[in-house]
Amino acid sequence: MQTPVKLTLDGFYGRRAEFLRERTIKNEANGRVICRVCGTRIKILPAQIEIHEAGNGQCVGNGESFEAGVPYCPGCEELPAAEGCVHA
Ligand SMILES: [Zn+2]
Ligand SMILES: [Zn+2]
Repeated sequence: MQTPVKLTLDGFYGRRAEFLRERTIKNEANGRVICRVCGTRIKILPAQIEIHEAGNGQCVGNGESFEAGVPYCPGCEELPAAEGCVHA
């Protein structure tokens, strides 16, 4: 999946849950998570997510950010951006 930009925090977590549910398969035997499309092992990119003010759609914040794991498939997806933002 792609690093969130201008999503709400709930939107981001919802999208991440949906990605894991619909695009990946977990092998219960070894705990590995693979891509449903191409079978490549899913990786997690640690992305820095800035917190921006909700409301006017502009990317304005006070510099606060947090690190979030963005799951993606190296086999059939672009590398997610290392930085993104949520608007909350
Ligand atoms: Zn923003
Ligand atoms: Zn894939």
